[in-house]
Amino acid sequence: MTAPVAIELRRVRLDLRHPLVAGHATIARREVVLVEVWTADGGRGWGECSALERPTYSPETTDGAWVLLRDELGPAALAGRAAGIAGHPMAHAALADACLDARLRASGIGLAASLGATRREVASTRVLGIAASIDALVGSVDVAPAGVKLKIAPGWDVEPLRAVRAAFPDRWLAADANGGYPLDALDHLRALDDLDLAYLEQPVAGLTAAAEVSKRLATPIVLDEPIGGLDTVRAAVALSGLGGLNLKPGKAGGIAATAEVIAFAAAEGVPAFVGGMLETGVGRAGALGLAALDGCTLPTDLGPSDWYFDDDVTAPLVAGEGGSVVVPAGHGIGVEPDPGRLDAATVDRVVLEA
Ligand SMILES: [Mg+2]
Repeated sequence: MTAPVAIELRRVRLDLRHPLVAGHATIARREVVLVEVWTADGGRGWGECSALERPTYSPETTDGAWVLLRDELGPAALAGRAAGIAGHPMAHAALADACLDARLRASGIGLAASLGATRREVASTRVLGIAASIDALVGSVDVAPAGVKLKIAPGWDVEPLRAVRAAFPDRWLAADANGGYPLDALDHLRALDDLDLAYLEQPVAGLTAAAEVSKRLATPIVLDEPIGGLDTVRAAVALSGLGGLNLKPGKAGGIAATAEVIAFAAAEGVPAFVGGMLETGVGRAGALGLAALDGCTLPTDLGPSDWYFDDDVTAPLVAGEGGSVVVPAGHGIGVEPDPGRLDAATVDRVVLEA
């Protein structure tokens, strides 16, 4: 790969339209690092680090990624050498994806097409956080005609799910516990088997404990938090009873690495989908290119921009037919930041040069 000649890092901060309350954290705003690379022939490309501000979901943070990209990964990329940094796949992904985007734009190719994806829209389900009351939760389900995935946590699980299922008997419904239960909660969680859930995501922390749950529940168990690159997916597939994979491109090290994971999961016959990290339009456009692959057999939980932000940093990603979301069709990731919106959201900025 040709080394970039300059890299701009921006920290951008956007308030979420609706704070997301999950067992691991309440997220009211997104502050992410965006990477823009410039190439010697005048090309540009963008990538996003999907780390959260606090390490409640995965070990990386916005602060850590900012320092790492500025002091280690950026200078190494400009010098055309390996950074020699252990871990931090989300920070690596931001830079790798920006370079990929620049390369595709220079070639006049769209990301989804370059990966071999043919779908122009992908089925999408909406994630609903822990609500103030069961009535409030049931009242919010109608916003998502294609289906909903409810965040659950101890104290907010069987009862709210049962209420939603009673009000919407035919609706696609899933639940995500973010690893929040101890293994001895299995008898309690078994009540979910009566609710016709498409899947239960990460009921307990870790790979092997989740496999234990899958033996004792009829509901398919999807893994999220312990899943990163291909090695973790191989380990997950080796466990019996895996119901599916929620793949976050940042945790795998970027778009190219995630495409390999999707191909592996498809070859193994494991259901999979690309999951959202409340990304800005930059990160979400890249994730949608992956979500359009045939190997993604479960609906994505990536949504159109207006689910998340009043003013995304890119032109809005839009809903398609029947609750689907449209895969951007332009060159590269298919969208680029709007200079005015980007400046309005930027809280810090640094330019690195070769
Ligand atoms: Mg999850």
